[in-house]
Amino acid sequence: MAHEQTIRAAVSCSGVGLHSGAPVNLRILPAPARTGLVFRRTDLDGFQVEASGRNVARVSYATSLMKKGVLISTTEHLLSACIGAGIDNAIVELDNLELPILDGSARPFVEMIKKAGVRRQRKARTYLRMVREIELREGDKFIAVYPANSYSVSYSINFPHPQIGRQTFCVQLTNGSYLREIAPARTFGFLHEADAMRQQGLIRGASAENVIVLTRDDVLNPPLRFPDEFVRHKVLDLIGDLALIGRQILGSVVADRAGHAMHTALVSRILRDKSYWEETTLEDETSAPALASTASLSL
Ligand SMILES: [Zn+2]
Repeated sequence: MAHEQTIRAAVSCSGVGLHSGAPVNLRILPAPARTGLVFRRTDLDGFQVEASGRNVARVSYATSLMKKGVLISTTEHLLSACIGAGIDNAIVELDNLELPILDGSARPFVEMIKKAGVRRQRKARTYLRMVREIELREGDKFIAVYPANSYSVSYSINFPHPQIGRQTFCVQLTNGSYLREIAPARTFGFLHEADAMRQQGLIRGASAENVIVLTRDDVLNPPLRFPDEFVRHKVLDLIGDLALIGRQILGSVVADRAGHAMHTALVSRILRDKSYWEETTLEDETSAPALASTASLSL
């Protein structure tokens, strides 16, 4: 039987927010079964914002949650790390409005979880098993989820840039490949868009240390961690955004040139209509769509 999991001990880090540039201290703490992933603003009397589709605030270049006017920005990399490492329950404390960007990937968060250790809890994990497909289209953007016995993500992107072009990447969240193939993939941005974005109050914390910077035809700060690091990062973002469903899913997710807005539109559609899924437990832990065992956490 696949069980819910949390971490064994509190772990912390510090950094700056990618968009706000604000300094922030972050701490991940163990939480009881059925808690889910919950953010807590320690600078606002511990105000709690659940990582749930019903708290999605705004989605453009990052996914932000808001509850009663309290913002938690750029949640997707940490949530992706939690799903990838099989963590169902945790409290994430932060003392500012945006999570730290760290190296631009989910790897530092995975390393924190690894350092804390993973603890299996008594409650059986409940999954959302998709029983009907959902397909969403917007212009040439596409996202869909199909019934399947495990959780997989396939993503395609197509950027007219000599270092990117068309890339497709598929990952199964069962076999440890998330940690090796997805978690290290960093966020990326185009140098020629940077000024306009800064004027919109974005990327104030961006640097060559936390973003792959693309010039018109090259990478400003090589080396890449993978030749197709760009599409791998999109997979990372999508897994983080789908964490807002609040349960692990059993389904095959396919995305083509989607983005945070379409990712979270899929979350809303799933949460809104219960006829698309049923709740189930998994007898066979090896088919659980997460890296259930601590053994698989050795990178
Ligand atoms: Zn990202």
